[in-house]
Amino acid sequence: MPLPKAELHLHIEGTLEPELAFALAVRNGVTLPYADTDALREAYRFQDLQSFLDLYYGLMTVLRTEADFEELADAYLARAAAQGVRHAEIFFDPQAHTARGVDIGTVVEGLGRALDRARERHGVTTRLILCFLRDQSAESALETLEAAEPYLHRITGVGLDSAEVGHPPRKFAAVYEAAAALGLRRVAHAGEEGPADYVREALDVLGVERVDHGLRCVEDADLVARLVRDRVPLTLCPLSNVRLRAVDVLEEHPLPRMMDAGLLCTVNSDDPAYFGGYVEDNFAAVRQALGLGEERLRELARNSFEAAFLDDDEALRAAYLAEVEAYTFP
Ligand SMILES: [Zn+2]
Repeated sequence: MPLPKAELHLHIEGTLEPELAFALAVRNGVTLPYADTDALREAYRFQDLQSFLDLYYGLMTVLRTEADFEELADAYLARAAAQGVRHAEIFFDPQAHTARGVDIGTVVEGLGRALDRARERHGVTTRLILCFLRDQSAESALETLEAAEPYLHRITGVGLDSAEVGHPPRKFAAVYEAAAALGLRRVAHAGEEGPADYVREALDVLGVERVDHGLRCVEDADLVARLVRDRVPLTLCPLSNVRLRAVDVLEEHPLPRMMDAGLLCTVNSDDPAYFGGYVEDNFAAVRQALGLGEERLRELARNSFEAAFLDDDEALRAAYLAEVEAYTFP
């Protein structure tokens, strides 16, 4: 049994495995430009960000009905549970679907059906986080939040993802203000490929409670001191960083230095179907490449539950933290 943990940085669209993509394509009469799952799996070995994004958005065309989204989420939850995930806060990108004519209600209700059964079926508790695509306009983000209003009982918070450079957090000040007024929690990708200043701006302008990635904060000592002082969680994704070349090789990942500095780090899988592994695969990779000992791994797991949006169920958080402390490594 792997170390119990929460996964806090996971894009549900990034869990689409080649086999499910093909099955959904057949079911929905969508023609994919690949001969078979082997050819598609080959394409998953993309070389750069653009070829990843082309594949990522291209494959989404197979997701059309509530049942498709339900199946996608259920497949992720089964894999996550096998990797020790006890609580998952799942990102989804409504604009990637509404732009191709799939209603936001289809997406949320389909995912919601899988999430409703997740605890009983997989032993995983869940939260859903609606992400805005930062390379789309601020107006589009506001329209998306408005379209989501009938489904807010299913949505815990908002996030911000996709291509970072040139799309600073302040572009989304208005939609984050509106989200806060609706009682939604706030996170944002910042400091992955964008500069440390984007992390500061996400905190100051968007009021985020967690920073997704946040890797480049290490370039700014004052910012690190602030993140440590305020216990702002960072959701790091080591295998993703290597695939998208935020770091050259895993052995050079700053995770150990960041933990030594006192930052509240967590380890997550980002887009696991595309980036070479689910969350326990990330734990195993950093353990090996960075030589993290058992107490460091336990600290990462503890951090994941401390950073989770479980404020409405502190008894559950305490139970999960007790599981982490009681865990014995094989
Ligand atoms: Zn991400």
